[in-house]
Amino acid sequence: MSKKKNLRADVLTVFPEMFPGYLDYSILGRAKKAKLLDARVHQLRDWTDDKRKTVDDKPFGGGPGMVMKVEPFHRALMSLKLLNKAGGKTAAARKTRIILTSAKGKIFSQADAKRLSKYDRLVFLCGRYEGVDERVAKKLADEEFSIGKYVLTGGELPALVMLDAVVRLRPGVLGQEASLDQESWNDGESREYPQYTRPEDYRGWRVPEVLLSGDHKKIEEWRTGQATSE
Ligand code: SAM
Repeated sequence: MSKKKNLRADVLTVFPEMFPGYLDYSILGRAKKAKLLDARVHQLRDWTDDKRKTVDDKPFGGGPGMVMKVEPFHRALMSLKLLNKAGGKTAAARKTRIILTSAKGKIFSQADAKRLSKYDRLVFLCGRYEGVDERVAKKLADEEFSIGKYVLTGGELPALVMLDAVVRLRPGVLGQEASLDQESWNDGESREYPQYTRPEDYRGWRVPEVLLSGDHKKIEEWRTGQATSE
């Protein structure tokens, strides 16, 4: 088992209030308490300097809605000491991945979660409104991820989804790390098989006999046969 280490996660959002509920419970909450996760959620508006703390503006070329400006994201990343004024990466940024949430990004997969779980630090940039100035994707972010082929109102849920998938892969976060090998989408395959627990018979809905047989070889064969793949 590799060494237990703290994962630092920074989230840039205009709705930081949305995060504590999810981050403070269950496995993520325990990871925080055990100092395996240091999650810091930042108000993006803190990196504006006008009175109204404006983070968006009209799109060049016209079109509906508002677009999030590049400047607050860039300033935030500079203040987190990840980027310098020229937009270049600092030494701290080399072990960090900056992730832009985006409906048009690459679809996030378990393989991405595994890869990202090797970094010391992750930063999630949450979009809102009609989206984010493309220079954030091109000049500031390392990766642009979508969590599925649908459009959400903001990047907050996608950031939580990705963080959750990454954190549970970090050493020491789950009690039984062996169980990770048995999970769905490990190496692109869904290994998940149907699971049952007590009672054996609920209103005539019976658990498959093989699971009650105590014959581990047969159970293994049955489970392999039931697993679905991509
Ligand atoms: N106009 C954009 C489009 O058509 O793709 C949708 C913008 S959406 C209303 C606002 C923000 O929500 C996006 O900038 C992104 O950060 C986030 N978002 C929406 N759907 C997402 C998805 N499927 N995966 C990741 N982020 C998403």
